[in-house]
Amino acid sequence: MSNRVYETKTLFVTVKTYPNPSKKHIETTCVSGITDEGYWMRLHPVHFRLLEDSSQFQRYSWIGVRVNKATQDPRPESYHLDESKIEIIRHTTTDNMWQERREIIEPLLSRSIEDLQDQQASNRTSLGAIRPKEITRFQIKDTDPHWSPKQRAKLSQLGLFSPQNVPLLEKIPFEFVYDFSCDDPRCNGHSMQVFDWEVAQSYRRWSRDKSRTEWEKQFRDMYDYRVRRIYDTIYFILEASSLPPNNAHSQLFGESIYAIKSATAYKRRNIIS
Ligand SMILES: [Zn+2]
Repeated sequence: MSNRVYETKTLFVTVKTYPNPSKKHIETTCVSGITDEGYWMRLHPVHFRLLEDSSQFQRYSWIGVRVNKATQDPRPESYHLDESKIEIIRHTTTDNMWQERREIIEPLLSRSIEDLQDQQASNRTSLGAIRPKEITRFQIKDTDPHWSPKQRAKLSQLGLFSPQNVPLLEKIPFEFVYDFSCDDPRCNGHSMQVFDWEVAQSYRRWSRDKSRTEWEKQFRDMYDYRVRRIYDTIYFILEASSLPPNNAHSQLFGESIYAIKSATAYKRRNIIS
């Protein structure tokens, strides 16, 4: 560790994923963002629930971080984070229909997932953003309500990062999936799961002591109706979870090439306050 060279970076946080059980790290979150120099950066692993309160940054904040190039993760955007030195600089505003945030994200928009796949093939791009052409459906799919014994063993490990004061990570018993198409003649449509911490958190908050009918109504209003009918601009932030099959590291990652990491939106003026 000590011989690694750290760099200081300023990062606009676009996505924090809901934590995943991890063999080495108990549980990990993946953070993606855009640096003030205008390129994508992924921070992984991040032990987000174990960070000091003063270091627990929010999405859409500018943060100052110390990072070095990840050695275990061959994706070009991936960096290792020094979790002891995170400075929350400021939270961005939503004024003027998300102007500040749009000005950071829009220069990095790609046309389509097909376009991102081309970039992946040519220079191993593994993070990007698109504006979907049409979102046709939001699915709430049942999954196992319990961690598997293997996942539970990972979450119960003792060690350097033991979450002594942090409750056991809650299993989200659903997958949330958008069906959509891109603005590209090659597009045959996509169906992708959302991994945002915020979506999981909405589920946890709204489902407590509520029937499925009750929470689903509120949940669909936010993530289905508003996203598909009200917000006039949606960005999906996408991550390559696998490398080309001929790459020696390809088995480290999942099957799907891109997964939706974020559905962000800004509001059509005067429709929603
Ligand atoms: Zn497409």
